[in-house]
Amino acid sequence: PTTITDELGIALANLADSATGVLTPTLRLGVTGLSRAGKTIFITALIHNLLTQGRLPGFAPLAEGRFIGAKLAEYPDATIPRFAYEQHLAALTGRPATWPESTRRISQLRIVLKYQSAKWWGGFSGPATLNLDIVDYPGEWLLDLPLLGKSFAEWSEEALARARQPGHADEAGAFLAELDKTDPLKDASDPDAERLAAAFATYLRRSREHGALSTLPPGRFLLPGDLEGSPALTFAPLPRPNQPIRGTSLYTMLENRFEAYKSQVIRPFFRDHFARLDRQVVLVDTLRALNTGPAAVADLETALTAVMACFRQGEANPLLRPFSRRIDRILFAATKADHVHHTSHDRLEAILNRLVANASKRARFAGAETRSLALAAIRATSEGTIREAGETLPTLIGTPQAGEELDGIIYDGKTEIALFPGDLPAKPDSLYEDGKPVALNFLRFTPPQRLDTNADGEVVLPHIRFDRALDYLIGDWMA
Ligand code: GDP
Repeated sequence: PTTITDELGIALANLADSATGVLTPTLRLGVTGLSRAGKTIFITALIHNLLTQGRLPGFAPLAEGRFIGAKLAEYPDATIPRFAYEQHLAALTGRPATWPESTRRISQLRIVLKYQSAKWWGGFSGPATLNLDIVDYPGEWLLDLPLLGKSFAEWSEEALARARQPGHADEAGAFLAELDKTDPLKDASDPDAERLAAAFATYLRRSREHGALSTLPPGRFLLPGDLEGSPALTFAPLPRPNQPIRGTSLYTMLENRFEAYKSQVIRPFFRDHFARLDRQVVLVDTLRALNTGPAAVADLETALTAVMACFRQGEANPLLRPFSRRIDRILFAATKADHVHHTSHDRLEAILNRLVANASKRARFAGAETRSLALAAIRATSEGTIREAGETLPTLIGTPQAGEELDGIIYDGKTEIALFPGDLPAKPDSLYEDGKPVALNFLRFTPPQRLDTNADGEVVLPHIRFDRALDYLIGDWMA
């Protein structure tokens, strides 16, 4: 009789073979979110937990003892950068442990999962195999999808209206000044286009820095990937002239480039990657938006709603239809839940729910199921209590990152502290008093410096509700 170890060995040996088999089902999971939302950490934790069978009581295939093993495999498309899993894990498990570099462009990885089906015929048909293809891409690029349905004139009008809002005067001033100096009807010239595009990109970047989250496309202006400096990225919004527009004008030039951006940048990304996804997780740094202020929260909400507009386009536009039929589940996840006490996790979920209410309505309307979850893919804090003025307060214990500041103390990245982070409000609508966020102390922490190991000597990554996310995203494919 074979032992469990043998079984595992055989199963793993078979993984490589079955991976090339045409009949192996493939689940394509998109992982997205705006810059710094937590994509890199989420994917690294996802892969590590599957490879090492981490502590995932809420992940049915593992909890039910049906999960046999997992293995990384060659990604079928050799032209797409590979997700640098080993590098990222090395940073997280190094001494000292550091957070790895963030997502700047698209990357992918395939992991082959072997499991025993729970269905009645599963016992007869033997272990089953699933290819899980993980596609990591900047959420900024997703914000571009609604542009497919807009003309240059429509987009310009929206973009300029936003730039002219009083709240954006600081960031947009220089761009608007450039615009005032420019007659859109003058002859097209590259230096003019470059000058305007540069001023516009600077405005977008600064608005991201100030507001933390910019909802304004084009996304490649913030994260150009390999396209930096190319004509398809050298345009800016222009007011629509009232006089007739000549084909040789600057206006026409930028209009053409906008159209090129749509057809040569957005559409291929959409067709080759996005449209082929089966499941999507949208990571949202809800706490950072709350910390930054009401404008950032409103921006975030608009961004999430805009992203989901793609689903609606799927109904109206035959070119986009494959996508709307494909993705059947979307998980909205509030990341970094370890920055608040567990008593606030449900509240964080409620706030996220409110933020994505419009977005998920659109998704459901198009036939996709959605869920909101507060999670930490890697938990950097533990919990304790302190007594202050006769009161017992729940605290977080962790090591603030070097440079983090609280109450006038600047931390060195080595000192562990206990702090009372403040409670998230019970009602998502009472986040602000007089336009100021209710007092919350969210510090950024270093990754956990001491990690448990399992029986095989592999590190175990602590998390919050990550197993539930996994179960929702892939559990049913392994039923
Ligand atoms: P990306 O730009 O979406 O790839 O973002 P990353 O995954 O690189 O995350 C950005 C930063 O957020 C990290 O460097 C960490 O500081 C923090 N972060 C991400 N996920 C977690 C988490 O689960 N817990 C904690 N405490 N911090 C996280």
